[in-house]
Amino acid sequence: MEINEIRISNNFELSEFQCPCCKRVMLHPLLLKQLQKLRSDIDQPIYINSGYRCKPYNKQVNGVPTSYHLFGMAVDIKVKIISMEALSVLAGLVGFKGIGVYDNFLHLDIRPEKEIWRS
Ligand SMILES: [Zn+2]
Ligand SMILES: [Zn+2]
Repeated sequence: MEINEIRISNNFELSEFQCPCCKRVMLHPLLLKQLQKLRSDIDQPIYINSGYRCKPYNKQVNGVPTSYHLFGMAVDIKVKIISMEALSVLAGLVGFKGIGVYDNFLHLDIRPEKEIWRS
């Protein structure tokens, strides 16, 4: 088995949230809780494009310097058969406050105040 290959909720492994460059990972329990709730509600696989990012990796992917990805408080996801718009509504219902709607992924984070933006 590889590092971080640990099931941490019904449908997610810690490795899915790790930084691709260094395999380090931070994960806020509330992020996991809400993501699992969303996963259970839609009953469809959620693909995590980006979870935790270390500083160099965040820079490499042109993330904003204050990105919630740096703190294990954000994920970029997609779900095959659900549109980003529909998914963004469902994500709001399970409690995500920061929601970025992009062409082929959704950014979700657990910032304190509600903020929704579109690419
Ligand atoms: Zn890294
Ligand atoms: Zn993001």
